[in-house]
Amino acid sequence: MTDTKYKRVLMKLSGEALAGDKGQGIDLDTVAQIAQEIKTVHDMGTQIAIVVGGGNLWRGEPASRVGMERSRADYTGMLGTTMNALVLQDALERAGVDTRVQTAITMQQIAEPYIRGRAIRHLEKGRIVIFAAGVGSPYFSTDTTAALRANEINADAILMAKNGVDGVYDDDPRTNPNATKFETLTHLDILKKGLKVMDSTASSLSMENNMPLVVFNLNQPGNIQRVIQGEAIGTTVTG
Ligand code: UDP
Repeated sequence: MTDTKYKRVLMKLSGEALAGDKGQGIDLDTVAQIAQEIKTVHDMGTQIAIVVGGGNLWRGEPASRVGMERSRADYTGMLGTTMNALVLQDALERAGVDTRVQTAITMQQIAEPYIRGRAIRHLEKGRIVIFAAGVGSPYFSTDTTAALRANEINADAILMAKNGVDGVYDDDPRTNPNATKFETLTHLDILKKGLKVMDSTASSLSMENNMPLVVFNLNQPGNIQRVIQGEAIGTTVTG
């Protein structure tokens, strides 16, 4: 086992991360690359749980703005996260990692229901657990799911893998070349400054429970490993 800073992590993968350059849908080559990176840190002995988003397939709120009933639109989004979870599970299994998907909405033919103790047991046995269907309720996000599950499984930190952005900036670095990156922040800073890291429900939950968060660029190969080993890449957010 390699010496690592974090022994048990909750990784948040946005749906977009699975879309690759296409920006939408699922790109299987991209998913396979991500699975390889995750396998590398798994092989170092890190216990890994993953919350996967669904924004590459569907978002509830925009659909509700054009007339769809919000809860139904959000349930559609939760099904999207489950599709992503199954695709990621398959890629991880093909990479040689033992995995389990647990859903917050029961779908017993395709995945286990979310059971905290069972999830922890899987982690202890070296299985990667993928949490799908968010928290199982509309009006929530998978960021909030990540903050919730990280606390439930006693994770050492949330690793927030971003697509092409290497941390938290005071403005959008893709549109403002003068945007400055924060090396460290507190959850309260994020809430006060209205920084777009996680939604405010997720930030509040993380702040109240002192859950550290590392925001980093997933698109740079080797970055998950760097974060696990404690290299100061990205932005570290503390209580
Ligand atoms: N969603 C929800 N409850 C949850 C998690 C997700 O209703 O607990 C729905 C919501 O409609 C959201 C969609 O699922 O827009 C996709 O999740 P999210 O936007 O968090 O995905 P990401 O941006 O991380 O890809």
